Amino acid sequence: MSERVVIVGGGVIGSLHAWEAVERGYEVVHLEADAEPRGATVRNHGLVWLTGRARGRDLDLALRARRRWAEIAGATGVTLRASGGLTVLYTEAEEAVARQAAELDGGRREFRVVDAEEARRINPALGGTFRAALHSPYDAILEPREVLPRLRAELRAREGYQWHGGRTAVDFAAGRVVDDLGHTHAGDRVIFCVGARREGVSARLLADAPLRRVRQQLVQTEPMDITVTTAVSDSLSLYYYPAYDVPARAALPRREPFDERHGVKLTISQRRGGEVTIGGAHLYDEPFDFAALEECDRRVIDRAERVLGRPLGRIARRWTGTYPTTLDGRGYVRREVTTGVTLVTAVVLGMTVAPAVAEETFEVFAA
Ligand SMILES: Cc1cc2nc3c(=O)[nH]c(=O)nc-3n(C[C@H](O)[C@H](O)[C@H](O)COP(=O)(O)OP(=O)(O)OC[C@H]3O[C@@H](n4cnc5c(N)ncnc54)[C@H](O)[C@@H]3O)c2cc1C
Repeated sequence: MSERVVIVGGGVIGSLHAWEAVERGYEVVHLEADAEPRGATVRNHGLVWLTGRARGRDLDLALRARRRWAEIAGATGVTLRASGGLTVLYTEAEEAVARQAAELDGGRREFRVVDAEEARRINPALGGTFRAALHSPYDAILEPREVLPRLRAELRAREGYQWHGGRTAVDFAAGRVVDDLGHTHAGDRVIFCVGARREGVSARLLADAPLRRVRQQLVQTEPMDITVTTAVSDSLSLYYYPAYDVPARAALPRREPFDERHGVKLTISQRRGGEVTIGGAHLYDEPFDFAALEECDRRVIDRAERVLGRPLGRIARRWTGTYPTTLDGRGYVRREVTTGVTLVTAVVLGMTVAPAVAEETFEVFAA
């Protein structure tokens, strides 16, 4: 008889664990508190974003995940656009950071610093005036609101997979989970992938986990009459991401205090329907302000218009999303909570690396 695993959490981390489990011949019982997941996974940019990853283990994980996403997309029909990414640079000091990052990368990401003309050949939507751009060809774009339903449709067609939407796990012990309807779900293993949700049993699980939560705010336009062929960011990201931890970074001027305080950085990705998603400000101090700040949106919209060299379409949607991230620079947290019960959370850029994290979990189980 095959082993059974109970997975709690229907976001990308839980769903990719379910995928990996089914591929390896486990029976899977999959619980999700909401009828349809509404967490970080459906609120994100959809970027499989290698550009900013730290060299070393972080990058290894992301490259592995990128290959795995291509396989999963092939098997499930999930849309994965091999778009590449461009980080737009305005000054000599910014270009120096990008050049050093490319040099230190040693060709693993095939980074290239290109001039503005070449950047526009790669992405004709970049109509603004800028100096150069860092091209990262392996970046890719998923459709955040399509991934989970597609994966689930494919899983449900497989034998041995059960989905229980609208069931909150309220208690657990070795080999079992109890849901809010009082049903007990037994398994040889239990995996909690509960994201940032801090209620009931999830709060208990996350209470002493080494993580902090981040709230991000972003906007989306109505469908636009341009094609943004790549993921796009700009030089504000040089201040944040470990890939840019190079000597030349010390020569960058300080950011504007507002941008620094609100973690403002630009990310642009276009949806299949033509809408352009633009983010975002990041809050790190809890309790988070319950309001979304207009000034944060205005700043990223200004930056996006500068890159695109044209006004954006009307903003049709605004939202925030919260995700957990590690405190100590590790790529994610996996810990055994009690015998046979594993917590996987705080996955940094979880949409990017979820498939590789899931593979690693089952490799640990098999070891
Ligand atoms: C605005 C924004 C933009 C982002 N952009 C990107 C990006 O472009 N690329 C990238 O790689 N990452 C991005 N991220 C991060 C990425 O979205 C997250 O790392 C990832 O989605 C986390 O997945 P998850 O499954 O852990 O969490 P979630 O998607 O939040 O899923 C957790 C699920 O667990 C369920 N759950 C919790 N407790 C229980 C319980 N007790 N019982 C049953 N179910 C429970 C919740 O209801 C939820 O559906 C972004 C995040 C945000 C918010």
